[in-house]
Amino acid sequence: MDRTHLLSDQDEAHCGPSCPAGSYAGDADPNTTPNAGPTAPPADVMPVVPGYERLGPNVIPPADFGAVQPQAPSRAPERRFDIPAITEELAHEAFIKYTSSRCCYSSKPAREMVFTDLQSLNTYRYRLETFTESRTTEWDSEPYNGQVVDGHGVAPAPWSIPVPIPSLFQDCKKSIRVPHTSTVKGCHSCLNLGRSACSRCVNSGRTRCGSCSGMGRTSPEQRCNMCHGSGMIRCHSCGGAGSITCTTCNGQGKLLCFITLQITWKNNIYLAVIDKGSGFPVKLLDQITGEKLLTDMAPAVYPVVSFPDSSINATSDSAVKEHLAQFATTCRILQQRQTIELIPITRVHYVWNEKTHIYFVYGTEHKVFTKDYPAKCCCCSIL
Ligand SMILES: [Zn+2]
Ligand SMILES: [Zn+2]
Ligand SMILES: [Zn+2]
Repeated sequence: MDRTHLLSDQDEAHCGPSCPAGSYAGDADPNTTPNAGPTAPPADVMPVVPGYERLGPNVIPPADFGAVQPQAPSRAPERRFDIPAITEELAHEAFIKYTSSRCCYSSKPAREMVFTDLQSLNTYRYRLETFTESRTTEWDSEPYNGQVVDGHGVAPAPWSIPVPIPSLFQDCKKSIRVPHTSTVKGCHSCLNLGRSACSRCVNSGRTRCGSCSGMGRTSPEQRCNMCHGSGMIRCHSCGGAGSITCTTCNGQGKLLCFITLQITWKNNIYLAVIDKGSGFPVKLLDQITGEKLLTDMAPAVYPVVSFPDSSINATSDSAVKEHLAQFATTCRILQQRQTIELIPITRVHYVWNEKTHIYFVYGTEHKVFTKDYPAKCCCCSIL
């Protein structure tokens, strides 16, 4: 069978870098099916399409689609990472900048302090991204206006329909009409009539007059001009007809039903920061930048081995195993990427006013964190 036609004109990619995750534009005009409930007749009246006997989320990929086996362990660069990340001058500069940005901190201690020690507490951030594709099948429909019905021939299996990947490591969704699955059915919403009852007037074509609240009179002496005394006026919603055009079939009474394949690309992220128990709040590191030490991208990555900090090796091993267990059976893993970042943290000890205090300088941005700054105006400790 010629498969080059499978991506027809109506199948349009909905996603670019700006695509909000979860966006989905079906083929039906949204104006004709506002919250119309099911978009296709109940499944038990639909024909059985070979290869599509069980529709639903996460169609299991065939076994021969298995992920590529990783080739070689990812080796880390050989280098010393335990040296202090910054000089005394930089640490001092960062501290003065920090205290001057806080209105209740006096900059006096920052200016007069004497360094006693700078300790490197450098840590690492490990990230594993697993980019997956999953496929979901369901019945869908649109009003039938004489379109081509292609329910003859063999429908291609859900995972054999070629769909180009829009962009690696970016969430995206797309929906495609499966060829050779369309069939014409009577509209389940209006029982093939093309019209459905008007809910405002309940089929009568008339509603209570608003001017006289249905009394027919605006005062004991005055007959209502709006309804000429009847208390009822013509229904605005249906123009007095008692029924409206069926929104499901757009008045046609018939639907073109077909199977839709929804493809979801998702970037799944495993993130871990090694907490060295130094008293520094690790959650502060969420917003800062580190220095990339290793980036490893492959259809299937191998856990990092021989990194100087063995907890990174262990983290990588469990991350790779966890993602395999989570995604290998229900999705296709298209690509993986793991990165290790060095997060510089320096603990600074200093003396001011004959007492020892500490602060931390962290991130390539040289942010400062301190718990015991000795001169805050609110505690009246300024000399
Ligand atoms: Zn009405
Ligand atoms: Zn009236
Ligand atoms: Zn209908």
